[in-house]
Amino acid sequence: MLLSLAGLIVLNSPFKERLWPQPGDVPVEPVPPVEALHPVVAAKMTELIKLTSKAGITILITDGFRSSLEQDVLYEQGRTAKGQVVTNAKGGASYHNYGLAIDFALRTSEGDAIWDLTYDGNHNGKADWSEVVAIAKSLGFAWGGDWKSFKDYPHLQMDFGYSIDELKRGKRPPDDVKP
Ligand SMILES: [Zn+2]
Repeated sequence: MLLSLAGLIVLNSPFKERLWPQPGDVPVEPVPPVEALHPVVAAKMTELIKLTSKAGITILITDGFRSSLEQDVLYEQGRTAKGQVVTNAKGGASYHNYGLAIDFALRTSEGDAIWDLTYDGNHNGKADWSEVVAIAKSLGFAWGGDWKSFKDYPHLQMDFGYSIDELKRGKRPPDDVKP
């Protein structure tokens, strides 16, 4: 009787909102930083390397997880630092920062890394780059070459429906998320 009365008081008190998390609450516990590729992205990357190899194409993964600090350094390239602009994303604004993106290049038979969109190393009349992108898409990757504002041809990502804003707020795709 006393216990149920106490329960009633709690349920009807104005402090109720503070007892249970409300939608939109900032998480109390700090979100652990992402420090590696998401396991699903890593597995799909391995599959991509295998499948492209079967098609006679050797790819090189030039970037995967990137810390926010590394992203900031990259953002300055072509702006305050020398080189050409390679990203429009500052630290925390790229899927690389959450382990959800990879970049690739082609490797020629001579062993050189190239970013040539027309190279046909397996001599099947199709550009190797487009073949890699087609295989990547079949695995569930989205391609940066499809972006309207800034074409990022080496870039492949899996967002699992999470926006950058959600990721910034600490939301994370679970390890067993479906691509
Ligand atoms: Zn990228």
